[in-house]
Amino acid sequence: MSEIYIIPTPIGNLGDITYRAIETLKNMDLIYAEDTRTTHKLLSHYEISKRTISYHQHNEHKIVDNIIDNIINNNQKIALVSDAGTPGISDPGFLLINKAKSKDIPVFCLPGPTALIPAIVQSGFASDEFYFFGFLPHKKGRKKKLIKLLENNSTTILYESPHRLLKLLEEIKELDKNDRKISVSRELTKIHEETVQGFPDQLISHFSKKTIKGEIVVVMDKLQNK
Ligand code: SAM
Repeated sequence: MSEIYIIPTPIGNLGDITYRAIETLKNMDLIYAEDTRTTHKLLSHYEISKRTISYHQHNEHKIVDNIIDNIINNNQKIALVSDAGTPGISDPGFLLINKAKSKDIPVFCLPGPTALIPAIVQSGFASDEFYFFGFLPHKKGRKKKLIKLLENNSTTILYESPHRLLKLLEEIKELDKNDRKISVSRELTKIHEETVQGFPDQLISHFSKKTIKGEIVVVMDKLQNK
């Protein structure tokens, strides 16, 4: 029967994958992967031998219809994985899922790793209501978007690259008068994992002392009586 499984994979620590994810990967006809080399490392760690095909932001529009036709015509069960975390969360996934649904192909998303959840939970900021934005635009529209996000009265989560972290903290300081508490989680689940919290100027001073490496989630606390 035609089916699509969206399978979250570890964001660093290879142990962070569910039994069900491993069993499901073993039962697929094939696996679409953001980077087949990255996925092969994971598959070989768990002794899974499956054919993988590249599916990423640069080819998804070109191949998605073909993937859907193959699933329907060959009754395929396929999995979609990204390099890390949950496909569809700041990663390719939406297009395939949307097209599959329009053709009544069942889609199942397994629960599993994603960077935003450990970052917000361990920040200790209110998590009853939060806003996940993903990556800000690098240039055009960045400031306008950030101003809007800073007006948002709930805990707000951003993904940011290490070389733009200081720029982001400076921008927040400038726009928000330095009184927004921020939690920066770096290298979650990895050996050099750290979460540092403070006001923008404190974080700027912390992160200016060394070269910033690795993957980063920025969590901004909700507005405090402004
Ligand atoms: N699909 C992924 C998810 O579910 O979280 C996100 C993929 S997005 C292309 C990559 C971004 O996620 C990184 O730039 C970083 O902001 C965040 N990220 C992924 N792994 C991380 C980790 N181990 N520690 C901190 N942030 C991480």
